[in-house]
Amino acid sequence: MIIVLKPHTSKEDKDKILDKIHSLGLKTMVSEGVERSIIGVIGEEDIVRMQPLEAYHGVESVIPVLAPYKLVSREFKPTNSIIKIKDQEIGSEKISIMAGPCAIENYDSLRAIAKVVKQKGATILRGGAFKPRTSPYSFQGLGEEGLKIMKQVCDEFGLLSITEIMDPRDMHLMHKYVDIIQIGARNMQNFNLLKEVGKSKIPVLLKRGMMSTINEFLMSAEYILSEGNFNVILCERGIRTFETYTRNTLDINAVPVIKKLSHLPIIVDPSHATGKWELVIPASLASIAAGADGLIIEVHTNPEIAASDGSQTLNPENFEKLVKAVRAIANVVGRKL
Ligand code: PEP
Ligand code: MN
Repeated sequence: MIIVLKPHTSKEDKDKILDKIHSLGLKTMVSEGVERSIIGVIGEEDIVRMQPLEAYHGVESVIPVLAPYKLVSREFKPTNSIIKIKDQEIGSEKISIMAGPCAIENYDSLRAIAKVVKQKGATILRGGAFKPRTSPYSFQGLGEEGLKIMKQVCDEFGLLSITEIMDPRDMHLMHKYVDIIQIGARNMQNFNLLKEVGKSKIPVLLKRGMMSTINEFLMSAEYILSEGNFNVILCERGIRTFETYTRNTLDINAVPVIKKLSHLPIIVDPSHATGKWELVIPASLASIAAGADGLIIEVHTNPEIAASDGSQTLNPENFEKLVKAVRAIANVVGRKL
C-alpha cells in the first residue's frame, strides 16, 4: 500500500502519519519527490486497510499496490531512479557501459583490458573474483587477491569496479575494494544474500535468474529495497528456453516491461544472454533500442586464452565497433553515450 501526500505537507503532519503506521507494527519507506512525498507501507496491508488514513491531514490518497512488490514499483516512485556512484550515474540519460573479463586472471591482463575498455568508452570495469562455475574443477577465481588487483587497476584508470559476491560473509571485502556488487543469476533467490546486501547502501547489480519470471526478479529486488538499500540496478542476462543455438535467450521484452513496472534502472548483459561473441553487438543494439540504461560486456585483449567464457568475449576491435554502434542507436532513442 502507498500513501500519497499532498504537495508541501508539513514535516509534523508527515510524522504523525508515520507514527500511526509504525504503531501498527508496520515498516515504512518514504520516497521524496520534487512535488510530493509517497509513503510505502511494508507488512500486512490488511491492518492498515482498517484505518481511516484519509482522515489524516496531508493525505491525498491511499492506494493499494496490487503487485506483490511495493518499493520497487512505479506506483511507489513514478520517476526513474538514478543510481549515483562516485562521479557516475546509472539510469540517467547517459548509457552506462561496463566491460571487462569474465574473471580477473592476473594484474597484467586486467590492466591491459582496463586500459583498452576505458579508451574505447567503458566507465566501469567488470571482472569476477568469486566465480560461480558449473564444475568444481573449473577456475573458481582469485578471491581477495583478485579484488586487490581490481582496485589497483580501477584507481589507476579512474574506472568504477563491479564484481560478483556469492557469500554474505564476503561483504567486508566488497566494501574495502569495489564500487558495485553483482548478484549473479544463480543467486538471484539467495534470500540471505539479498538481505545482507540490502542492509548496506552499496550499489547492487541484480541479475535475473536464468529460470525466473519478471515477477520473481522484481520480488528479489524488493528484498534488497525492503532492507533499506535503494541503490539497485537490474540486469537482464537471458533466460533458459527450448532454444539451444544460443546459451540463453535474451528476453528483450523484459526491458520495456521492467521500465513500465519499476523505477529501477535496467541494463542488459548480451554476453551471457547469447553465449556467442558474434551475437553480442546485435543483442546490444536491440537492448539499447528497447530502452536499456546500459550494458555489461565481456571483453578480453585475447579471448582465445580467457580463463572463462572466451567464446562470448569480445576482443578490443569488436568492443570498439560495439561502442560506436551503440552510440548511434543511443542518439536515435534520445540517449547519450
Ligand atoms: C558473470 O557475469 O560472469 C556471470 C557469471 O553472470 P550470470 O550470473 O549472469 O551467469
Ligand atoms: Mn562470464
